[in-house]
Amino acid sequence: MNDLAPARQAVALTGAGISIDSGIPPFRGKGGLWERFDPMEIAHIDSFMRNPAMVWKVLVKDLKDIIDRARPNDGHKGLARLEQLGILKSVITQNIDGLHQMAGNTDVIEFHGTFAWQRCIQCERRIETSWVDASELPPRCTCGGILRPDAVFFGEMIPPAALWRSQEMASHCDVMLVVGTSAVVQPAASMPIIARQSGAVVIEINPEPTPLTGVISSYLIRGKAGDVMNRIVSALEIKR
Ligand SMILES: [Zn+2]
Repeated sequence: MNDLAPARQAVALTGAGISIDSGIPPFRGKGGLWERFDPMEIAHIDSFMRNPAMVWKVLVKDLKDIIDRARPNDGHKGLARLEQLGILKSVITQNIDGLHQMAGNTDVIEFHGTFAWQRCIQCERRIETSWVDASELPPRCTCGGILRPDAVFFGEMIPPAALWRSQEMASHCDVMLVVGTSAVVQPAASMPIIARQSGAVVIEINPEPTPLTGVISSYLIRGKAGDVMNRIVSALEIKR
């Protein structure tokens, strides 16, 4: 708390752990979506281009149903509150659920794009996923083109602007909060390292220690993202 109260340029790096309490299963790990599917088989851009109806049917439609229902939890709301308090500048996320924006954060960098929007593969027009009628698969744009998630499939590049901006944010932040991620997958993995090397305090909020703990992060606050964020926000609000 003492590190966070004076911060004005804090950045949060978030992952699947922050969205579990919103009912979004993680892709990796136990109970993850990838236990049911081979991601290289289903979530690869080549599979989508070859057979969009199949990929919509077995993956995209389920994700749409899950994400249509999901609402921000106390973890997302806490980060939005930190922005209102003038402490947090940006959120860098590996998630594609759009919940940080829904909670109220105004600067969200999405490494893997977003599932909250679909994009026409012909005319590039974007449409909010919750507005897409998925009764016929694959859903199509008014121009007749097939709609695809505006998220990064396997076999596709991380959007260069997202990568560049997050490196910039990481090297200029005073505090980096690592929330709900062990940050072992690139490019997220390099952000806490950049922050630490640039002199920021790196604070982890995770249920279990990670490879960052005690090496890159100054300390770990153990617990669920929502519970810990509630504690942090109330402590900071008392201080004001
Ligand atoms: Zn179109």
